[in-house]
Amino acid sequence: MNKQIAVYPGSFDPITYGHLDIIERGLEVFDQIIIAVARNSEKKSLFSTAERIGHIEEAVDNNPRVIVDTFDGLLVDYVASKGAKVILRGLRAVSDFEYEFQTAQMNHNLKSEIETVFLITSVPYGYLSSSIVKEVASLQGSVESLVPPVIKKALEKKFGKT
Ligand code: ADP
Repeated sequence: MNKQIAVYPGSFDPITYGHLDIIERGLEVFDQIIIAVARNSEKKSLFSTAERIGHIEEAVDNNPRVIVDTFDGLLVDYVASKGAKVILRGLRAVSDFEYEFQTAQMNHNLKSEIETVFLITSVPYGYLSSSIVKEVASLQGSVESLVPPVIKKALEKKFGKT
């Protein structure tokens, strides 16, 4: 039987417990998850692509069913090149919906054999985002319950100890 591979794309700047929850739950559904860090993101990132990859690898503890990679260009082309048929995304509040709806429809339009699958955020992470984590850390707030230890350490390096 073919392995079911899902590509989980994003900025992961930095990875949070919200992302890790989606990965963990995704592994209950798919055989393998490729975490694809977007390289051509228009967003200005706090961490470099190499730093983000290192953080993710440490956070997923080198799980053999999880691969960490980068991509640029069209996501659907990248997904097809990996032999995958699924894009995995997490959905939080209604505010995520508009963007995800538009992107999923466009991706389907570009390559109809690739489906986007959404997992709804777990309750504790509904309002957790990489941006809010960066904001809290920059204001010296505690991020301990929001991100894995590797990110806590990296944020302390950038912003000072919280
Ligand atoms: P992007 O710039 O592509 O939105 P992110 O790293 O912010 O990249 O998010 C990647 C994916 O992870 C998105 O599908 C996003 O909705 C999801 N995600 C981020 N934080 C959470 C969370 N707290 N709970 C569930 N999904 C999340």
